[in-house]
Amino acid sequence: MTDYPKPPFPAQAQAVPGSQSKMQPSPDCGEQSYVGSGRLAGKIALITGADSGIGRAVAIAFAREGADVAVAYLNEHDDAKETARWVEQAGRQCLLLPGDIAQKAHCQALVDKTVERFGRIDVLVNNAAFQMTHETFEEIPDEEWVMTFDVNITAIFRLCQAALKHMRPGASIINTSSINSDLPKPTLLAYATTKGAIANFTGGLAQLLGPQEIRVNCVAPGPIWTPLIVSTMPDEEVQNFGGNTPLGRPGQPVEVAPIYVLLASDEASYITGQRYGVTGGKPML
Ligand code: NAD
Ligand code: MG
Repeated sequence: MTDYPKPPFPAQAQAVPGSQSKMQPSPDCGEQSYVGSGRLAGKIALITGADSGIGRAVAIAFAREGADVAVAYLNEHDDAKETARWVEQAGRQCLLLPGDIAQKAHCQALVDKTVERFGRIDVLVNNAAFQMTHETFEEIPDEEWVMTFDVNITAIFRLCQAALKHMRPGASIINTSSINSDLPKPTLLAYATTKGAIANFTGGLAQLLGPQEIRVNCVAPGPIWTPLIVSTMPDEEVQNFGGNTPLGRPGQPVEVAPIYVLLASDEASYITGQRYGVTGGKPML
């Protein structure tokens, strides 16, 4: 717990969607530390937003646990190639799938290409998201509100619907929600609203898919050191990021990945419809 960096961090504004390789300090996605033990042996996973941040940490952990991984991402080709390098170094296959999940046809294509390469989907991790800081309600552009919903929640609906046809009993869906699902940060209004929707969707879909023996859960991270943060938050918040948690620092992506491994694994056979916080000590309702 004492190994990870604490604020203050250097100012480092980036354009959306951000590049992990330009961050200072570099986020820890478990590249040098995550040790697997065969908990996902032979599984096939499709992970959105897996080029960087939490998604990269999940991709590395899944690969070291024995899964082949399809890595979906927007357009950060260098970050995605780095994720692929670690997946392949773990002896697993990696399929890189760039493109915009706000497009319905692209959601279908992600599933089609994953199934074409690997034959089925055992784990779908809906992890990609967009957010943007706005100090006032009035300044939120209508198009940005709609786009945030398209990327953060409508794409999850579409990916689940498309993937379900290729999932067998025992398969698992894991959505990335946020502490914002309970405690909305007012300057992230659209984003926080979608994160509440993701938690609610998770609970409902888990009930619908229970009879098919497909589990659905979500993870609610607190402040995690990733490109999403440095590309969408004001300098001062980036410099103090995570300082207001009981642990006094942001989490690193590698510290979030183990809960995804558990939820994807057969050990979690009775765990469905739940939301798991990884918040550095901030309680959720
Ligand atoms: P990240 O920037 O590393 O990952 C988000 C990814 O989403 C990007 O890499 C990008 O490729 C992808 N993406 C964005 N828009 C897309 C689009 N239109 N089409 C396809 N892909 C798109 O940041 P992260 O923090 O690791 O984010 C992962 C998840 O964690 C998100 O759902 C985010 O809301 C959630 N989360 C993060 C924090 C945090 O503090 N970092 C806290 C709570 C929840
Ligand atoms: Mg990225």
